[in-house]
Amino acid sequence: MGAASAGEATRLIHHPYRAPDGFDAVMVPVHKASTVFFPNVAAMRERQWQDKSGYTYGLHGTPTTFTLEERLATLEGGHHCVLAPSGLAAIALVDLAFLRAGDEVLIPDNAYGPNKALATHELTAWGIRHRIYDPMDPADLAAAITPQTRLVWLEAAGSVTLEFPDVPALVGVIRAANEGRARPIVTALDDTWGAGVAFNPFDLGVDVAMQALTKYPSGGADVLMGSVVTRDEALHRALLSTHMRLGLGVGANDAEAVLRGLPSLPLRYHAQDAATRELAAWMQTQPHVARVFHPALPDSPGHAVWRRDARAAGCLFSVVFDPAIPAQRVDAFCDALRVFRLGYSWAGPVSLCVPYDIPTMRARPWPYAPRLVRLAVGLEDVEDLRADLAQALGALVP
Ligand SMILES: *Cc1c(COP(=O)(O)O)cnc(C)c1O
Repeated sequence: MGAASAGEATRLIHHPYRAPDGFDAVMVPVHKASTVFFPNVAAMRERQWQDKSGYTYGLHGTPTTFTLEERLATLEGGHHCVLAPSGLAAIALVDLAFLRAGDEVLIPDNAYGPNKALATHELTAWGIRHRIYDPMDPADLAAAITPQTRLVWLEAAGSVTLEFPDVPALVGVIRAANEGRARPIVTALDDTWGAGVAFNPFDLGVDVAMQALTKYPSGGADVLMGSVVTRDEALHRALLSTHMRLGLGVGANDAEAVLRGLPSLPLRYHAQDAATRELAAWMQTQPHVARVFHPALPDSPGHAVWRRDARAAGCLFSVVFDPAIPAQRVDAFCDALRVFRLGYSWAGPVSLCVPYDIPTMRARPWPYAPRLVRLAVGLEDVEDLRADLAQALGALVP
């Protein structure tokens, strides 16, 4: 268009100038769109977005989101990726893509809390049952499987208490149960902790790797996003169809923020890992500390499996104090922290602290004092973090 006779508003919109192709820079441009153009009706009918060969609508992908999906599939060692507006939305997408009324989903007792809450509330209301299994006992998983089981969630390390399960053994139990099944059980790992750096989830045998990009890939504590990666084409197609029907778009600027975080992800992961090991080991030597949970500590649950299956250990450790320390003093320890801030999430620049009441979160008995403190190590100087913990420990005993 661009006819000189057109009105001013039209000429401002249908302007003939096109910037030359060939702008070549490190970052992928931020492509923002709901509408994308087609040259003719035939193109409108034929164009495909499912295989990333074309663009049809902002919700179906842009150059920015396609690029992010491809890089995340590579990060996780998979072939396909879909993005969701948060990590929790990615969990919900997996549930809704694979579960129907009458099906059952199995969730580890130490799963990310909102995964369990979604099952307890919405999935139950929709006629989908869930069972909780002990991720440290493959026999317990085997006993929980029924003919209705359709999806099994796994998490390594577990949320908050950081037990490291034997994923190949758990997957082996499910593969054995799948022999002769018309609808095989799908295994989905919440890989937020490993982030594609600590281990390759597909090498451990899972079908689906979900991740909260909110954590390591963003790294900035300023973006919410999730991803679901698969190797299997049919599983990916099922996810993609449900994803489209639910309308789970992500913002272009948020996709750009994650693309910016990705190149430094391995460096940040290993730096936070080194600082966390140092602080966790130091914490173990402090008075009133009963247990420190961190997969690289020899007495942490699943340590031997972690050594066999993982290359890194992330930025989280959790502390349980002596039973004689009352819960209010544990809260006083958290309140006394200055460099560590009180706040949810992790893997950003700022170190964070959250106290949890484990017995209210778990189906199985918890043998320690109920109040546990989870610490997430950021990117500050490790000596400042140690000094902060040391001064806050003073608040445990008045
Ligand atoms: C944070 C987190 C999620 C959810 O991510 P959001 O983007 O906050 O919704 C899921 N799983 C694990 C293990 C997490 O830590």
